[in-house]
Amino acid sequence: MAIVTGTSKGIGRAIAKALVAKGLDVLATSRDAVRGAATAEELGVPFHPLDVTSEASVGSLAGDVDGVDVLVNNAGIALDGFDAEIARRTLDVNLHGAIRVTEALLPMMRAGGRIVMVSSGMGELSCISGALREEIASPSLTREAMLAIADRFVREVAAGTHAKSGFPSSGYRVSKVLMNAYTRILARELSADPRRLLVNAACPGWVRTDLGGERAPRSPAEGARTPVWLATLPEGGPSGRFFRDEREIAW
Ligand code: NAP
Repeated sequence: MAIVTGTSKGIGRAIAKALVAKGLDVLATSRDAVRGAATAEELGVPFHPLDVTSEASVGSLAGDVDGVDVLVNNAGIALDGFDAEIARRTLDVNLHGAIRVTEALLPMMRAGGRIVMVSSGMGELSCISGALREEIASPSLTREAMLAIADRFVREVAAGTHAKSGFPSSGYRVSKVLMNAYTRILARELSADPRRLLVNAACPGWVRTDLGGERAPRSPAEGARTPVWLATLPEGGPSGRFFRDEREIAW
């Protein structure tokens, strides 16, 4: 089974559609149950409501599935404006949401399973400066330290000190920087797992969706290409890497 988060529209819908075309059993999920169920019906796949910010909702999904071959963490938001509340809400969906779903489904992942994080070039480490960039880039960054950086960002935005510490003034950028850090940490944690799970992050490019806007050059199907490629990597493929257009890019 392939589980994709945020399939009601945009890139997630296109990823689900492409995985169905490749013959995978897809479970469509999204927060908006009406739009989500309608899209799932159109794709001919089952639907499970899922709000990645809710432990209960994630727990209900985990309780309803038994074997997972593919997990694509696609659900994401980009809110207008910038303050501590916007930063907190953005991290809650884009970072903590992906972590919640991954951790809940990890015990059900089958041997050879693949986990894909739909990230963004907006999360490249170059948007972080100074010692903070080195801390996040460090191969020995722990999960606890990464989560502490997420909390610190929200606190520092509230206090007006985040820029001095090296953070950009964008909750979206920081959510994707830390999603990338989580990808590296998880791949490292799973490197000795006998199931040989592959964990990678994808940048879909700039895509015409509600989030990307009408001026974006890529269609949702084009944006789905690299996440789908990572979701169907052959055994022994890369893990803990970042890709755009099916090519590895720098963090
Ligand atoms: P979109 O059209 O706005 O779709 C976002 C999807 O995420 C929707 O299905 C939405 O479901 C779902 N979602 C939002 N909050 C959720 C929550 N709390 N729980 C569960 N699902 C939730 O955006 P998109 O452009 O397709 O973006 C998909 C991913 O690609 C995001 O992670 C985004 O950051 C990334 N990305 C996009 C671009 C771009 O140019 N578009 C570029 C780089 C990266 P509802 O219908 O329930 O709201």
